[in-house]
Amino acid sequence: MLYSVKKKPKPRNLLKKNAIGVIIPDGNHPLSPMHMSSGSCEIVTKLQKSGFDAFLVGGCVRDALLGLNPKDFDIATNANPKEIKLLFNRAKIIGRRFQIVHVQLNREIIEVTTFRSNQKHHRSDHLRHQTKTGMLTRDNVFGSIKDDANRRDLSINALYYNPSDNSIHDFLDSLTDIKKNIIRIVGDPTVRFKEDPVRLLRVVRFSTKLNFKIDKKTAEPMHRLANTLQQIPAPRLFEECLKLFLGGHAYANYKLLVKYNFMSYLMPFFAESKVEADRAKRLVSKLLTNTDQRVHAGKPVTPAFTFAALLWPAVQKESLKHMRNGKTVQILKMLAADGVISKQIQIIAIPRRYTTAMKEIWQLQGPLQKKERAARLMGHPRFRAAYDLLLLREESGESLGGAGIWWTKYQEQYPQNRLNNCKTPKAISPNISRRRRYFLPKFKDGS
Ligand code: ATP
Ligand code: MG
Repeated sequence: MLYSVKKKPKPRNLLKKNAIGVIIPDGNHPLSPMHMSSGSCEIVTKLQKSGFDAFLVGGCVRDALLGLNPKDFDIATNANPKEIKLLFNRAKIIGRRFQIVHVQLNREIIEVTTFRSNQKHHRSDHLRHQTKTGMLTRDNVFGSIKDDANRRDLSINALYYNPSDNSIHDFLDSLTDIKKNIIRIVGDPTVRFKEDPVRLLRVVRFSTKLNFKIDKKTAEPMHRLANTLQQIPAPRLFEECLKLFLGGHAYANYKLLVKYNFMSYLMPFFAESKVEADRAKRLVSKLLTNTDQRVHAGKPVTPAFTFAALLWPAVQKESLKHMRNGKTVQILKMLAADGVISKQIQIIAIPRRYTTAMKEIWQLQGPLQKKERAARLMGHPRFRAAYDLLLLREESGESLGGAGIWWTKYQEQYPQNRLNNCKTPKAISPNISRRRRYFLPKFKDGS
């Protein structure tokens, strides 16, 4: 860790304090331009040479201080979007709610943002708009660098780094929070969460990613504000859920999402599932710990499988509901899958390519349990994911007649079938129809 907690902080009087905050000069912190991408430093330099202020900001400064590899490099400047666009050949203004400029340099795309202000401008509704509940639906009022720091989400995300003189600008005592491993929202927590409820999820995500403690005042209103998650547009929530569940800290995130009652709003189906609730919890904890292990081992993880497994208890519950209405098993499974998906995508906009795969994973559960048509099933594009779900179900206590072990042995015996080879090993599955190669299996009984 570059900036360890044990390291003695520099006495404040050694640091330059000016009207715009504390400046930590070269030599008094562990950063150097080497920690940033060359493209981002080049853009900062060009903006500065053109007479503007420009800094690297947010996640890249935070992560570099903590000895982590920054995911991306964001720049903040007092140049407005049009001025930024004019300076660079390959620049595009994007977004309406929050206008930013994407500057492309070689293969890097870097977000350049004009300093924003949080101050209410009564005459600039077209620039900054807030709903009655306090949610910001437009945030394009520009301001000073200090205003910009104050409108950022967390103190640890509000540090500015100038690669030209290797200085850090700290307006909110962010370095202390980094040293003390604290997640603190900037400003009044209730107001800031209401402005943008995604911040509730970001607090959870950064606390698990960095293993930082959530400050008491920040945590205080979080449970109470869980219902504001309903205001987040579904596509934005999908992006955020990918980071929560596929980012390598899914299980820790899940525990906090349950603690603050966020899960009830993200996946109401899952939370409602009182039927066999303990088993559902076991399934989710196994799923998410496995996912984390895969991410840390550099193995691929897929949103379709994760969402299919997370929502499996809901599909089962929904099937039971339809069963009471006397539907056939095949229709019943379809209805359950469609019902769960159509409600879920209103909250989290899971793209169709994933929901189609999720349905296939669910629909393969019955045939996998029956161990029929083994070679064909193994050739199905979703076989692996469906088998993984079957194992998870068994491991979490569902009694499936040893289907998981059976399939594990079968794959060891006939590894060649995995390559979409649909030939049937007669000893295992003699009654296969030759007409359908890839198929969505029909359900004949209550499996
Ligand atoms: P990472 O990219 O590693 O997930 P990050 O902190 O860079 O972390 P981004 O989503 O890339 O996160 O956002 C860049 C910066 O923009 C943040 O560091 C923060 O300063 C600011 N920011 C992002 N989302 C919000 C928000 N909802 N409200 C206020 N500021 C935000
Ligand atoms: Mg970032």
